[in-house]
This record gives sequence, structure tokens and C-alpha cells, in this order.
Amino acid sequence: MRFQRPRGTYDRTPDASPLWRQLRQLFDRLCVQYGYAEVDPPIFEHTELFTRAVGEATDLVSKEMYTFPDRKGRSLSLRPEATAGVVRLVLENKLLAAGGLLRLAYWGPMFRYDRPQAGRFRQFVQLGVEALGSASPAMDAEVIELFVGLLREVGLAELRVDLGSVGDACCRPAYEDTLRAFLAGVADRLCPTCQERRQANPLRVFDCKEPGCQALLGEAPRIMDQLCADCQAHRDRLEALLGARGIAFRRDRDVVRGLDYYTRTVFEVNYPALGAQSALGGGGRYDRLVEACGGPATPAVGFSGGLERLVWAIGNEKTLGRADLGVRGAYLVLLSAAAEAPAARIAARLRASIPAEVDYSGRGLKAQLKSANARGARFAILLGEEELAARAVTVKDLDSGEQKALPEENLLELIQAWSAGAPPAARP
Ligand code: AMP
Repeated sequence: MRFQRPRGTYDRTPDASPLWRQLRQLFDRLCVQYGYAEVDPPIFEHTELFTRAVGEATDLVSKEMYTFPDRKGRSLSLRPEATAGVVRLVLENKLLAAGGLLRLAYWGPMFRYDRPQAGRFRQFVQLGVEALGSASPAMDAEVIELFVGLLREVGLAELRVDLGSVGDACCRPAYEDTLRAFLAGVADRLCPTCQERRQANPLRVFDCKEPGCQALLGEAPRIMDQLCADCQAHRDRLEALLGARGIAFRRDRDVVRGLDYYTRTVFEVNYPALGAQSALGGGGRYDRLVEACGGPATPAVGFSGGLERLVWAIGNEKTLGRADLGVRGAYLVLLSAAAEAPAARIAARLRASIPAEVDYSGRGLKAQLKSANARGARFAILLGEEELAARAVTVKDLDSGEQKALPEENLLELIQAWSAGAPPAARP
């Protein structure tokens, strides 16, 4: 019997691991530099958290959530996005009690039951940040800058930042009325789902993927044309701040985010070369969510980015050479079973400076050297009967082919000298 992974999932295989590890390190570094602390809520939560926070009428909650009863009959859901869980975590752990700003970051799997296609999975990994406690457009600008900075550092230059606003409690009700009036006029041509959305949650009609509805909505009024003075001022200030930071953006009346909780700023960062699924990430401001989850009124803004698409985009541009993917280490080649214990001891010493792998396969010299090259090692360290008797080792520089026998205690010194003398060439 052969098993296959479930539809819409993928296996991350070892060849992808250096790149993923590097992205993780880069994200961690940016978070430290900007002061975002990592949090890690569980991947499943009470279903009600998502219906309340994300919105019952959203596609995300009504169609795409993995929901199941646990053994006691409680309804749980795999998280389709991270913000609801982070806000729950903040409130449950009373993190707002200290006052001031709270800068948080996360990285982990999300789950959405959606039609799989290139760049769209049912389990995928998101990284993201949430900044709670500031209503200033400067906070929005920082969050966008952090994400764009991450993308630029991995060499993705051809980005398109789409920036919009969805208004707030002041201007949105009036806009919803305008939209309802428009929808009433075209009601007989809307799909059944949009018929339902029309009254209760008219903004959600913009999520509709039906071509008929999309064509009708081209003519629909947009909230960007109807913002109140405060929302306008917020948008103008954010645009000025982004301009000052050299972040080009496109004012977009059509950025709609598929979640109910957004207020004012919404944005999406696209990498157009990816085609249909070109959004690398998106986010926005959610000034009312904390309160809606039972906390004190707290303005907040955040983004989330999709790792699979990021990796895809990097592969597309081949921006990162394999040489960038970490330090190249030593590969210990064992020519006798008696070498196992000394090899472990020598490897432990080496690891204080460089990675060291020991070959316990029991194969011959040639096969082990081949593995050393395949693993991208810089040095092969040969341990045979003779070497052991003399507490000596033979080192081979796999780049230059140079080889030298020397006492074990001088090994690190030689490796350091060779490493410093000749910068490691790019891995094949
Ligand atoms: P969203 O909050 O839905 O805009 O998601 C943020 C980012 O996560 C998107 O811009 C994508 O990069 C990524 N993403 C969302 N859904 C999926 C999915 N089903 N598969 C892979 N990546 C996704």
C-alpha cells in the first residue's frame, strides 16, 4: 500500500531547506531590528473566534475553514489566518496591560479549503507582523516598509504595492447605503450568494469570483471615492510617508481584503511575474478588532506574507545563489569502523566553528567523497587506521584539491587558515 499526501498539500523536501532556513533567519533578523517579538498561538482555535473576528459572511470562514468537533463535541477550526489568534493571545495573556505599543510577529502554517492551483495550497505557511496600540499612519508605513524590505533583501525588485482604504465607522455606513442602492438596481443579475450578501454584508460582494458579478461590480461605487476627512487625511499621510521612504505604490480603488475586520488602510504586495496568484502578501489596519474580541479599543495594523509564493518568486528570478545559503563545512570520511568514536569527538570540536557531518554509512572512500561533494562540503577529513594510531587526520580542501596530513589538535587551525586564505567558491 502506498500513501499519498492530501490534495492541496505539498512536501517540503531537503533541497528546499537551505532557502527556507535563510528566509526564516532573514525574517527573524528584521523582527529583531524593528522590535517585533515572536508569538505562537495554536494552529487550531475555537471556531467562534474566527466567525466573530474574521466574519461569518466571509468566504474564508463560510467556505474555506477546516472545522471539526473534537472528542467532547466542541467545534474547533484550523486557523485560516493568524490575526484572530494573535489578538486572542494578546487579550488572554493581558499583553495590553502594560500600555504602549505591542509589536508582534508570527510564522507558521495556515489552512484553507480552497481549489488548489499553482501558488494556492490547502496548507501553506505565512509570516507576518501585528502592531497594536498606534493609530498613526506612520505605523502603517513601518509595517509596509518591513515587508517590502524583506522582499527587497531576497532580491525581488519588480514589486507592485497596491494601496487602498476601506474607510472607518464614520464613512463606511454611508458608503454601504450607496452600495446597497447600486446593488438593488442590478439585483436580478447577481448570483444567489451575492443576493444574500446584498443586504447584510454588501462589501462582501467584492469577494465574488463569478464573472457575471465581477462585470457588474466594475460599475459599482467605491469607498475610496467616499472617504470621510479623517480617513482621507490618514491615507494622504501614509502615501507621503511611503513616498519619502522610496516605496512606490499604486493607489488602488479595488483592493478588497477578504476579511471583515479591516478599517482604513488595506494593501497588497504583488510580484506580477507570478501570474494569476501574484500576491506575495497583504494586510492593513484593523482598529476595531481588539474591541470586537472583548478587549479595550486598540488601533492596530499588520500584514501577512505567503512563504510558498515567496520561494516561487525567488526561484523565478534565481536571485539567491547557492553560495549564499550558509556556511560550508567539513565532511568526515570514515575508513574504518574504529574511527566512529574519534570522528564524533573531532566533529564536536569542529562544530564550534563550522558545520561538520560524519559519514556513518560504512561505504568506501570514493562513495563517501562523492557524498561530501554532493552535500556541498568544503573540507573532507579522512580518518583511517593509520591516522587513528597516530592521532592524526588527513584534510582535503575540496575546492583546491590540496591535501595535508596533520596532528588532530592542529586541524581547526588549518581549516581556519584555508578558509580565510581562499574565500569559498560558489557551490555548484
Ligand atoms: P491573505 O491574507 O489571504 O491575503 O493572505 C496573505 C498571503 O498569504 C497572500 O498574499 C499569499 O501570498 C498567501 N496565501 C494566501 N492563501 C494562500 C494559499 N491558499 N496558498 C498559498 N499561499 C496563500
